[in-house]
Amino acid sequence: MIKTDVLVVGLGPVGATLANLLGQQGVRVLAVERETSVYPLPRAAHFDAEIMRVWQGLGLLTEAMAASRCAPGYEFRTAGGETLLRYDLGDTIAPSGFAPSWMFNQPDLERGLRARLADHPTVEVRLGVRLDNLESLGAGDLERVRATIFDSQGKPGVVESRFVIGCDGAKSTVRKALGIANFDYAFDEPWLVIDAKINRPDRLPSVNLQICDPARPTSCVMMGPGRHRWEFMIRPGEDPQSFLDEHKIAELLRPWVRDGDVEIDRKAIYRFHGLVSNEWRRGHVLLAGDAAHQTPPFAGQGMCSGIRDAVNVAWKLGHVLRGEADERLLDTYQSEREPHVRALTEFSIAMGRVVCMADREEAAQRDAFFLAERARGATPVPLAEPSVGPGAFLRDTPRAGAIFPQDSVNGVLLDDILGRGAWLIARRAEDFAGLESPLVARIDAIEGRALAPFAASLTAFLDEVGADAVLVRPDRYIFGAGQARDLLDAYGATLRGSKS
Ligand SMILES: Cc1cc2nc3c(=O)[nH]c(=O)nc-3n(C[C@H](O)[C@H](O)[C@H](O)COP(=O)(O)OP(=O)(O)OC[C@H]3O[C@@H](n4cnc5c(N)ncnc54)[C@H](O)[C@@H]3O)c2cc1C
Repeated sequence: MIKTDVLVVGLGPVGATLANLLGQQGVRVLAVERETSVYPLPRAAHFDAEIMRVWQGLGLLTEAMAASRCAPGYEFRTAGGETLLRYDLGDTIAPSGFAPSWMFNQPDLERGLRARLADHPTVEVRLGVRLDNLESLGAGDLERVRATIFDSQGKPGVVESRFVIGCDGAKSTVRKALGIANFDYAFDEPWLVIDAKINRPDRLPSVNLQICDPARPTSCVMMGPGRHRWEFMIRPGEDPQSFLDEHKIAELLRPWVRDGDVEIDRKAIYRFHGLVSNEWRRGHVLLAGDAAHQTPPFAGQGMCSGIRDAVNVAWKLGHVLRGEADERLLDTYQSEREPHVRALTEFSIAMGRVVCMADREEAAQRDAFFLAERARGATPVPLAEPSVGPGAFLRDTPRAGAIFPQDSVNGVLLDDILGRGAWLIARRAEDFAGLESPLVARIDAIEGRALAPFAASLTAFLDEVGADAVLVRPDRYIFGAGQARDLLDAYGATLRGSKS
């Protein structure tokens, strides 16, 4: 029998991120993955600034930047090429410190995440190993989970772990073993997706496009350097398999490319879904990523939501396993994350309903509406960062639960100065004189040498919230703002599960 502290099931982007984040904290992890190599078919092409900050924290920023392209805009057009909606994204910097929108190739990123796991001596990875079933043993603090696994030769094994995190994707064995049902938004459509390598980038659009053509709703989006993606909706009554035929693909791509412009790299038929699991934690078993929720691709947020899950649960598990927090802290995982996931899923469905209109009359009404809106100068509903739900925050303090902004000065990013773990940042050293806490990795003053280059933005933040100090959680969400001592006391109380 293998004993571990956290069994991570599935090494997709979410499981690999989680295993890295736990490894950074020295947590003993066994990660099992059914396949021996990363998933080869087309999937995520977009991630946002918050996720770029996660790659930064994992030491993957240079790699991620090299493997991505910044998306300057996102445009919805009529079949005739008129603009219905346009999001200009190019020149802005999101609170996380990066441009808001990045295009990439998911397998490249997954390989980078897996390679990084070798840096963590407490993380063991077993590829070609499938979780078969789970059983809980004991209760409360003593609870353990026993997992049955099979290797690629069909040899069984048993793992006993303090916690199990199901990052095992849409068909999650972990979710099924617990009998957890999904809430279904009942919005799913079959699409063909084609990823291509580009020979002539100058002939391709340099913004992401949704062509709202009722005859064939189509997406045409950038990916990482040297790649482009097209997606075509398969209409009711059409045979999805026939869309994989190379002549059919050539016909669909004809309006976009000339001979030799691109080489088809991958193609697949998929059906998107809008689903949210009813429970994300039962005892010592938790769900993350597609195992807990799935979202249509129109806002490019499915994987991003899963990465946010991994970040949210990793620091909480670390505190619980080190005996610094009560297990009840883990209940804040779903309470914080689910409203955020639902808001993005609903936004994505709203976008999808605009794009997927196959009825000509309805589409004509849609076009007339959006064209009139544009003519009167209306701007589209912004791709806002939704709020997280209630949880491990100091309620009623300004900006609690928002992302703590990351400034960059002369190419140096704030997080790289402050490092991992929670931070207490105060105006002056005297604000925290005599205070220390094992729960907070960094206590520092704006007037000190390390933070002096960031004094302008940090002071502006504290002025805005009207406080002398701010406590930032390890996931870079603001715990609360106020007096340094009160913040440390409240953080400790929140982790212990007593009210702050
Ligand atoms: C066409 C398409 C476009 C998309 N575009 C975007 C986008 O632009 N942006 C975005 O953010 N998201 C996008 N997504 C969604 C994104 O790809 C997924 O949300 C993401 O891959 C989910 O990651 P995950 O790690 O939770 O699950 P997965 O990537 O599915 O990984 C789960 C892993 O678990 C393993 N596994 C399963 N069962 C077991 C078991 N019993 N034992 C051991 N291992 C197991 C699997 O082999 C797999 O490796 C898109 C998806 C599709 C299909």
